[in-house]
Amino acid sequence: MAKYINKGSSGKGEMSLGKVDRWFLREVKACSASSSQANSFRFKALKNDKLGNGRNINIWRVPWVGDEKGRFIESDEREELKVVGDLIDHEKMEWRYDLIERNFNERDKKCIYAIPLSLRGGCDDYMWAYSKDGKYTVKTAYMIGKGGDLDDFHGAWVNLWSMDLSPKTHHFMWRICTRSLHARAALKHRHVVDNDACLWCPGLEEMMEHAIFSCPRIRHLWKDCGCEQMWENCSGDDILGMVEKWATLDGKMVQRGYILAWNLWFERNKFVFENVVTPVEIVVQRVYKQAEEYNTYSKLNYSGSMKSQPPSAKKWVAPSPGIIKINSDASLCDDGWVGLSAVARDDKGRVLFSVVKRMKAWWPPDVAEAKAILLAVCWVKKKGLSNTIVESDAQMLISRLSMGALFFADLDAILGDIISLCSDFNFTIFSYVKRDGNLVMSNAG
Ligand SMILES: [Zn+2]
Repeated sequence: MAKYINKGSSGKGEMSLGKVDRWFLREVKACSASSSQANSFRFKALKNDKLGNGRNINIWRVPWVGDEKGRFIESDEREELKVVGDLIDHEKMEWRYDLIERNFNERDKKCIYAIPLSLRGGCDDYMWAYSKDGKYTVKTAYMIGKGGDLDDFHGAWVNLWSMDLSPKTHHFMWRICTRSLHARAALKHRHVVDNDACLWCPGLEEMMEHAIFSCPRIRHLWKDCGCEQMWENCSGDDILGMVEKWATLDGKMVQRGYILAWNLWFERNKFVFENVVTPVEIVVQRVYKQAEEYNTYSKLNYSGSMKSQPPSAKKWVAPSPGIIKINSDASLCDDGWVGLSAVARDDKGRVLFSVVKRMKAWWPPDVAEAKAILLAVCWVKKKGLSNTIVESDAQMLISRLSMGALFFADLDAILGDIISLCSDFNFTIFSYVKRDGNLVMSNAG
């Protein structure tokens, strides 16, 4: 079994605060690169996101796969198979290998197995990338490109990435800054809904800024959380301008403000989707509690900040008592099989459980490593563990997960799966370890 050594594991484990911006620029370059390979990767990703549950995509007449030979399936049409959704096991969100093996030629199989399916199926994070009728247009491609465009690089990003926040808060702020939250005004603009009014303020447009900052229902909460400074002197600034200015304010206050923003949106969604209303006083208590818990937890693990974690270990290091560490790894065979594994251990190094999964896939190494991390996180959820460290030797993935930074490519659909699963947990920290220290063999602990 050939083991790919991930490019990220070349020993540059350290990432101090001052390096974050340079690191980020490098990552952006890597992700939004102008090379034709990266572009074709992104174009493929587009079809992928659109794939969702595949129930509207004709297998035989729509260009939904892609390689140097083209974008259409080449095998002979089978009447019993109509849409791509027929080829998906929707419960597991995996390809139906039985059907695909029987009905497609080698080239088609390879193309299909190269598409990683997202657990979230018709994932709404990606919906904004498409126009109303789901058609790919130059304009939507442009918007996607903007997700990681260096020409538009703004000082706000450096501030955002250097904040000490949990991955889910980071990811949320990233969505705010890229304007990919689905407030009703934005949905109306994209013809998804007809009514753009705030649910609490008939007649007022629900812009993202309204929902999170200025809606009269929640506006005073910024003061109640001691974050009113984040508001003052910022009138007239757009969100990136605001985030940039926050760099000069007290870090703990800004951290609390970010957590408040996350909670306001979370509560707003609870009302929109489940009709559940939380009294605003409880939101304030929750914000203070979450900030305190997060700071205690990250101190426990890294004696201070998540970003100033020590240069990554070459040896596996046991977690603190009460915390479970899960190591994940992927191995690729050249005959189209991928092995994913994850092992959980406690502070004594005892193995709590281990999982191995073998599946047919033609994925690039980073996609396979991301799937291995996803496997680990799925099991964290299945076992109901709450305080966990998920460790991998795929450095680039760990950095991006730690910051909740998503762009729009195949890989990002999987990173998005991981982050959205993590929103259910108390705390999860992602940790990079050099390859020698990534103990996934159960007997090696
Ligand atoms: Zn309102």
